[in-house]
Amino acid sequence: MKLRRRMMMTAAAALLIAIGALLPITHKNSGTAWSSGTSERAAGAARPHTEEPAARASASALASGKAEAAQPVVYLTFDDGPSKWTPQVLDILAKERVKATFFVLGQEAERREQTVKRIVREGHALGNHTYNHRYDALYRDFEGFWRQARQTDAILERIAGKPVSLLRAPGGTYGNFDAHYFELLEQAGYRIADWNVDSGDSKRRNVPASEIVKTVKAGKLSREVTVLLHDGTGHGESVKALPAIIAYYKAKGYRFAVLDGEAKLVTFRIGPDKWQRTWTEAALARAEQLVGQRSGAWRPLRDWLRDKGTVAWDALRKEAVVRVGGETLRLVPGEDKHVRVYGALHTGGGSLAFRLVGERIFVAAA
Ligand SMILES: [Zn+2]
Repeated sequence: MKLRRRMMMTAAAALLIAIGALLPITHKNSGTAWSSGTSERAAGAARPHTEEPAARASASALASGKAEAAQPVVYLTFDDGPSKWTPQVLDILAKERVKATFFVLGQEAERREQTVKRIVREGHALGNHTYNHRYDALYRDFEGFWRQARQTDAILERIAGKPVSLLRAPGGTYGNFDAHYFELLEQAGYRIADWNVDSGDSKRRNVPASEIVKTVKAGKLSREVTVLLHDGTGHGESVKALPAIIAYYKAKGYRFAVLDGEAKLVTFRIGPDKWQRTWTEAALARAEQLVGQRSGAWRPLRDWLRDKGTVAWDALRKEAVVRVGGETLRLVPGEDKHVRVYGALHTGGGSLAFRLVGERIFVAAA
């Protein structure tokens, strides 16, 4: 049953809206072999600001949609920091007027709080890369991963002053995450990101900058490129390679963006499990209990509405009708996986995100 749900999730469009806004949202299909079949799983978790007037939100969504269509985008990502190299990375990014995403380790963030603050202050995105990166502790069983993700959540929220939902699995998800890992972490509200261009800067110690640049240039120039780099201890060569990498993507006409709610996240398909985990019903039930406690967790809309209102799926009109008090919200999936949201709910200033999965709707309240 769990696996069936998982398959439904991968097969369906996922999207998010701000209450009060009327937003046509395009679900972006995966264009790469890396993310084939899994992009829907990663789509979503955008939480547009509710303060933004509906008309402006709609206009800006359309405008950014157009810009995206016109220009390819590259997401530079740096893992395993912060370290002594990170300020140099930040200096280069500032000089080049480029934004990037940093997947930091909880234990390194604790040691270099000022660097983490600088990452946020300078407009880069922050992601969770677990606490200590030890594969056996993370992948032997889910609860080990969960503990480190939550521990790092707390550290990053304290330092950055806001919750961080972006998450990258140490070593990538391939062979490390099984379907339950994906499903549980997404249910918890995490947005999982792998990459589609590996700079090769961690395939052995001290890979020279020239080789890193060469490897990046050999990568596929898809419309959305997510480049894996490292700014952890021992990665001085990555710093040296960075200006040439930036110059390369600039010359190819790319714009640089951060992995925020607007970004399409690539995730690997589920590979053969390296870890020989066994999931008992009891372990799964316990894990579901755990993930439901994280604020930002996705809950089935029916559960969430239990004391508030109702939702009905109109199979004929193919729309979900949500009623809360005297207010009605209609979620209408259209062609090419466009979905329109009609109506507004006034939920007391908070923002809600919806995810439509087949005929099931999930909601996350922020
Ligand atoms: Zn890593």
